[in-house]
Amino acid sequence: MDHHVDLFVIGAGSGGVRAARIAAGYGARVMVAEEYRVGGTCVIRGCVPKKLLVYAARFSDEFEDAAGYGWTLDKPAFEWAKLIANKDREIARLEAAYVTNLERAKVTLVRSRAKIEDANTVCLLANGDRVRADTILIATGAAPALGAEIAGLQHVISSNEAFHLKDLPARILIQGGGYIAVEFAGIFHGLGSQVILVYRGENILRGFDDDVREHLRSEMAKRGITIITKQTVDAVEKVEHGLCVELSDRKSFVVDQVMFATGRRPNISDLGLDAAGVQIAKTGGIAVDEFSRTSVANIYAVGDVTNRVNLTPVAIREGHAFADTVFGGRPTAVDHTDVPTAVFSEPELGVIGLTEAVARERLAKVDIYKTSFRPMKMSLAGRDTRAFFKLVVDGETGRVVGCHIVGPDAGEMIQLAGIAVKMKATKADFDNVIAVHPTAAEELVTLREKAVSYQREAAE
Ligand code: NDP
Repeated sequence: MDHHVDLFVIGAGSGGVRAARIAAGYGARVMVAEEYRVGGTCVIRGCVPKKLLVYAARFSDEFEDAAGYGWTLDKPAFEWAKLIANKDREIARLEAAYVTNLERAKVTLVRSRAKIEDANTVCLLANGDRVRADTILIATGAAPALGAEIAGLQHVISSNEAFHLKDLPARILIQGGGYIAVEFAGIFHGLGSQVILVYRGENILRGFDDDVREHLRSEMAKRGITIITKQTVDAVEKVEHGLCVELSDRKSFVVDQVMFATGRRPNISDLGLDAAGVQIAKTGGIAVDEFSRTSVANIYAVGDVTNRVNLTPVAIREGHAFADTVFGGRPTAVDHTDVPTAVFSEPELGVIGLTEAVARERLAKVDIYKTSFRPMKMSLAGRDTRAFFKLVVDGETGRVVGCHIVGPDAGEMIQLAGIAVKMKATKADFDNVIAVHPTAAEELVTLREKAVSYQREAAE
């Protein structure tokens, strides 16, 4: 053996880095292998660069809205290349900060792909070194899945490439109806592209509350994004002035870029999982228990590679809990219920807890409170857009079991409202708080009238 460590982490993304640092803090000798850039999906080609592009895209509305507030501006001009260069510089800075933090924590970082040879041995493919590890943590994340092989799939990009396009596409077609599809639809539209969103189901954002889905869809359409549902992309062909996309109903469109945001697949291939006996769950992720332990006693897995709740803060929490459990002597299971989440679409979504549909399945009595209104800032701006707030309440206990917000700063709001929901606050607790006026968030504490109330009929 060339090295011996207490913990070997495969993947220096959000979950792996957190686990490595916390474990090292407990005194463990830790080595992390990363084959690409330190920071993982979130920092390098996910949440962070995405949010920077979202900020960029939102200026187009700001410029327009300023006129109603008395500002006169020359026609704003946008330079995609400058945005991408500035974004790349910021990502490089963050990556360097991640490396520094690992060094400070005395974690050894190796730039190599790693492969498990048996439950206690990892091979560094870059130089062939073998590492003996008492514990192995797999934190390799996930990668875009482009779906079935169709004609012309080689012309299709994923979100990975969208961050590095040479030019802003004048016309883009995005397939998918999830987080990434709606976020990038808003980004490209805000920056000036013509956007067509193609989704195979009835309505975008399956799994979100139906009112939220409908509200977002109508707001996106109002902004000028073409949303085509119940269709898939069947073929993509290079033509003289772009790419010709054929849909399942045989309609076709010529665009400059085609992006698929059709989900992500856990990175499990060529890791040596079979050799070690690590089992895969039906979800396609590595099977783990509540402490993130795999079917092999000393091998753990956290983050998207386990395909549980695929969000950065969840991976971080899982990585931290793993380190507490294995190296801190404090067995810590991660609670995956009531995870607040934001979708940085335009407008933004912030949600936590149960949708109305799920609440009605699970609870005997459900009360719904909701409102839709034009945010105050839009009055002078003259923009036709509405915000939406909804509380799903357990009618028997009064507990707020779901909170759904569509509108500016919904992500910020749901982080705070999430504390109350997680603390099991009741609707009466919400109402007991005096409103902050004039804000949009005050709707959370001023929803007086039940929109609808459901009661399950007693079984005969
Ligand atoms: P999602 O799982 O959210 O959405 C995938 C979409 O693609 C769904 O609408 C799905 O349809 C559709 N789809 C899947 N397979 C096909 C196919 N073969 N043909 C046509 N359509 C298909 O994945 P994303 O790629 O958008 O994002 C991956 C994950 O990353 C998210 O689930 C989320 O956990 C995370 N993420 C979080 C963000 C945030 O926190 N703001 C931002 C971006 C990503 P259907 O609904 O019918 O299954």
